[in-house]
Amino acid sequence: MAAAPDRVRYPMNAQSLFFLCTQCRNHLFSIADSIGEFPSGPGVTHGVLCRAAVNVREDDTPRLLNHHPVVNVHCNQCNGHIGERFTDPANAPELHSEQGKYLFYYDKLLYWDGFGLHSCSTGEEIIIYDNGHL
Ligand SMILES: [Zn+2]
Repeated sequence: MAAAPDRVRYPMNAQSLFFLCTQCRNHLFSIADSIGEFPSGPGVTHGVLCRAAVNVREDDTPRLLNHHPVVNVHCNQCNGHIGERFTDPANAPELHSEQGKYLFYYDKLLYWDGFGLHSCSTGEEIIIYDNGHL
């Protein structure tokens, strides 16, 4: 079955480090696009900030996350709510006034470290079966 035309896949090899959706293993963003960790605080789930992502869609429901205006970000394969996108960087100095950065939650992410898959929330290794299914 053909993948959606806009579906981006990163190579799963030792030179490629990237994050995936924990629900459906959709590829989401490269380590090269990650900026750092989003500080945890009351009502804020710890996660990774990044400047670009693939295979995601945003909804149009504005709300506040830790006083910053955001919209919800969903995986475009399983439709899971996996993060937020900041819409008003003027009010978020730690985002360096660059618009459109994403926050992805650790418990929604898997990490490909070049050799294996790991859960971002527990560090646990995810087994990849020989038949290619994850
Ligand atoms: Zn997904």
